Amino acid sequence: MTDRYNNFETVAIHAGNTADPLTGAVVPPIYQVSTYKQDGVGGLRGGYEYSRSANPTRTALEENLAALEGGRRGLAFASGLAAEDCLLRTLLAPGDHVVIPDDAYGGTFRLFAKVVGRWGVDFSVADTSDPAAVRAALTDRTKAVWVETPSNPLLGITDIAAVASVAQEAGAKLVVDNTFASPYLQQPLALGADVVVHSMTKYMGGHSDVVGGALVVSDETLAEELAYHQNAMGAVAGPFDAWLVLRGIKTLAVRMDRHSENAARVAEMLTRHPKVTRVLYPGLPEHPGHEIAAKQMRSFGGMVSFQVTGGEEAAVAVCDRAKLFTLGESLGGVESLLEHPGRMTHASAAGSPLEVPADLVRLSVGIENADDLLDDLRQALG
Ligand SMILES: *Cc1c(COP(=O)(O)O)cnc(C)c1O
Repeated sequence: MTDRYNNFETVAIHAGNTADPLTGAVVPPIYQVSTYKQDGVGGLRGGYEYSRSANPTRTALEENLAALEGGRRGLAFASGLAAEDCLLRTLLAPGDHVVIPDDAYGGTFRLFAKVVGRWGVDFSVADTSDPAAVRAALTDRTKAVWVETPSNPLLGITDIAAVASVAQEAGAKLVVDNTFASPYLQQPLALGADVVVHSMTKYMGGHSDVVGGALVVSDETLAEELAYHQNAMGAVAGPFDAWLVLRGIKTLAVRMDRHSENAARVAEMLTRHPKVTRVLYPGLPEHPGHEIAAKQMRSFGGMVSFQVTGGEEAAVAVCDRAKLFTLGESLGGVESLLEHPGRMTHASAAGSPLEVPADLVRLSVGIENADDLLDDLRQALG
């Protein structure tokens, strides 16, 4: 069916979701099972032998992920960081070097700085929104360039196609963390990326009820290597988690449209607010990455960050006063969240080149009524 229907909304609902052959159930059941009866030694039904290696609910999600990103193979993990860890240990060996962005998810930075570093892999930090800066950071040991666009929490934009050619010239793989955009808004593989990373905890799941991660690739050899490591290391998505994400993805397109619409209204209101000194949203014409974002994204997404007058204490006070926006980490759910990155999600980047401004507030704009969201922000700003 998905061979004939290529439009995103249709693929999201149908890819991997074939009706159950036994009962006709229209959504894949939760195969809450660890092992499978063999018809004689080695006589596997459908290739299933043990659920770390493969599980039918996870297979449904993995086929869906590959189709959504226009890749050949999708792999589902227990969390976004588990996916990243599997990718790094598949791609890299002691002595290798990676270029990472100067603005990235704090946990990604911690993985490079505190975990992978101990295994003899080093990294340079570059402003990936400038392809020349990425080129300047390459060494003859560089095996991967890591990009997050839009970035977390500063909403910086990287030109994926431009950085893909810089990485390719150097023989390095381009990895794009597509968590903020989701495959509905942006498809990095089509722009030349080698690997797409997702925290499915965010927009893919979409309901703040599951933690999960994904990798999607086009290259068959890399797919085989990743699948080998996924099984060898074992941080797979469990069947219920895979099922929740698969369910979330069915409404991804409509949710992302509303997230983008609401975020645009929030960003526009904030630009006119006297207590706001700067609004970071790629949909604003004055954003330095606006034109590139308009070229490589369908719309600008649901994440908005802003800086306030009065420094750190004022930013923290806004977070404390918000009522409809729930104070919490994470993002991408239907309900609006806000947080203080300096003290919360990005505390692990303090003192590093990835340290974030102390007067910054980050919003994950949900799909509630936009007027209610604007009212809450106005009262929180005081
Ligand atoms: C949350 C997040 C991650 C990590 O994913 P987990 O599911 O929390 O492990 C990676 N990248 C980005 C951009 C994120 O927001």
